[in-house]
Amino acid sequence: MAEFAAQYVSQAMSRIERYSGERPLFELHGIEEEIDRALARRVNLKFGGYLIIDQTEAMTTIDVNTGGFVGTRNFDETIFKTNLEATHVIARQLRLRNLGGIIIVDFIDMDSDEHKQAVLNELAKALARDRTRVTLNGFTSLGLVEITRKRTRESLAHVLCEPCPTCQGRGEIKTAQTVCYEIQREIVREARQFETRGFRILASPPVIDMFLDEESQSLAMLVDFIGKPISLQVETAYSQEQFDIVLL
Ligand SMILES: [Zn+2]
Repeated sequence: MAEFAAQYVSQAMSRIERYSGERPLFELHGIEEEIDRALARRVNLKFGGYLIIDQTEAMTTIDVNTGGFVGTRNFDETIFKTNLEATHVIARQLRLRNLGGIIIVDFIDMDSDEHKQAVLNELAKALARDRTRVTLNGFTSLGLVEITRKRTRESLAHVLCEPCPTCQGRGEIKTAQTVCYEIQREIVREARQFETRGFRILASPPVIDMFLDEESQSLAMLVDFIGKPISLQVETAYSQEQFDIVLL
């Protein structure tokens, strides 16, 4: 590293030192934790508020929220303070996550124009520290703040993560009940189509549990309807949406 730095980034030379400790450096300096935080959807603010950061194909949205109950007495003041604090956390998260393109911030609604302007000024100040080119536009007619940040490298999430194979990146999966109904419709279709003595359902534990409990009656009705037995088999390795219907 010293050789590399000497050749390409001489200003970093003085900052490189050999570490001979036992504990991994990432652990020692809490880097592992910091990475987890920079990938999380929710970022907590100091006084109970929090941000929800969603990265989609087209843009990133950041929703600012007050945490829990806000007293009516200092309602406006609490909201103002939460929005102000959020400006600095947002600027830092944009850098940490290396988010580029269009960023839409939904601050908590403020009535006072003075407060709105102060929040915008604070955000501009926080963004000024960014070495990447950032443009800040004021509140849109819908009360959102639009930021554009030059795309440089890939975002942290794109470098370190891949779409979830269970939900294909949707962030949601069908409920066990939905899957139960899907299976029953499939069996009705197959019962018409194929000559068979019976069926066996292979599905995840939550789906099989549902067939044994809440949906046991509808399963019994289905057995009556097709006039053939249906057996159940738990497949612990199946995801909730995954199932197979075996002809017996
Ligand atoms: Zn998922």
